Amino acid sequence: MSRCYNFSPGPAALPEAVLRQASAELLDWGGSGMSVMEMSHRSAEFNGIAVEAEACLRRLLDLSADYAVLFMHGGATTQFSAVPLNLGFPAGQADYVNTGHWSSKAIAEAGRYLEVNVVATSVEENFSTIPPQKTWSLNDNAAYLHHTPNETIGGVEFFWVPEVEVPLVADMSSTLLSRPVDIHRFGVVYASAQKNIGPAGLTLVLVHRELLGRAAAATPSLLNWKITADHQSMFNTPPTYALYLTGLVLAWLEARGGLEAIEAVNRRKAEKLYRMIDDCDFYSNPVAEHCRSLMNIPFTLADDALDKIFLAQAREAGLLNLKGHRSVGGMRASLYNAISEQAVDVLIDFMRDFAASRG
Ligand code: PMP
Repeated sequence: MSRCYNFSPGPAALPEAVLRQASAELLDWGGSGMSVMEMSHRSAEFNGIAVEAEACLRRLLDLSADYAVLFMHGGATTQFSAVPLNLGFPAGQADYVNTGHWSSKAIAEAGRYLEVNVVATSVEENFSTIPPQKTWSLNDNAAYLHHTPNETIGGVEFFWVPEVEVPLVADMSSTLLSRPVDIHRFGVVYASAQKNIGPAGLTLVLVHRELLGRAAAATPSLLNWKITADHQSMFNTPPTYALYLTGLVLAWLEARGGLEAIEAVNRRKAEKLYRMIDDCDFYSNPVAEHCRSLMNIPFTLADDALDKIFLAQAREAGLLNLKGHRSVGGMRASLYNAISEQAVDVLIDFMRDFAASRG
């Protein structure tokens, strides 16, 4: 068996130790005689798995009891609807910052329910930067402000937290657990699991308890954060196996020293790849230096006619999923927690050799 270097933006590489543990426990979890996949979500065994996953997440994030942790379905995309339904009324309007593909999707979906004020956008800069807060036009009547701390496709990341009077909402799909963040500065944080948290199928929502109970009457029960919180995320059958795997990923992260330790590794990985791209005329990254993502690094080759050859040779070298998103082209390396520093070194060596052979 040989495992590739997988730079996928998500579903993304999982820690090998986690996959090995899951494999060892696949047929018989903890002497129960069954797989976690076969357990009732209401069994004592599964309850223990869910409770420990939540406790581990709270320890990693240093999250207070003021916040509910919700394990939901439907991906971050479903939260694009859940946010306006749970928080948008009676005001009927909300502020959104548009820094790229995923902010735009959130804005389009919210617009089906309420009046969306786009308070700032970097569309004129081709989403290569983040407008500073002093240029935003915030609205007094907004029910909340939504932003996307890391744009997975554009590779643009906020290294600061907006200061607003209204509840701050963040789609942290591709940044949560990559470094310490003070969740207490946010009203709601949500994230798809399939980057740094676990496998696809699970969506994490962290919500300040003060914000529960405001949902519009027509909100589907499964999208209602209060109903979800009141039922310990088991209003219906949760994605049990995804939740179990998430628990293993969280324990792996904790054993590695938690978020400060992983941040140090993530910074080293990203810095060395950006440095190589900047030092080599053959590659370029379009993002303004102050907001270059630690997790997703898009880059282009000097001649896009070479893209296919680059990807084919990368594949031969065991480096997979480097193709940029279809909406922007070029390349992208996603360096989530499960990507080792050594994997980034191999990528950098490959890129240098490729540039030299074409230079
Ligand atoms: N927001 C961000 C920042 C993302 O990166 C993604 C997925 N790549 C999504 C939302 C959508 O996630 P899902 O497909 O799980 O709904």
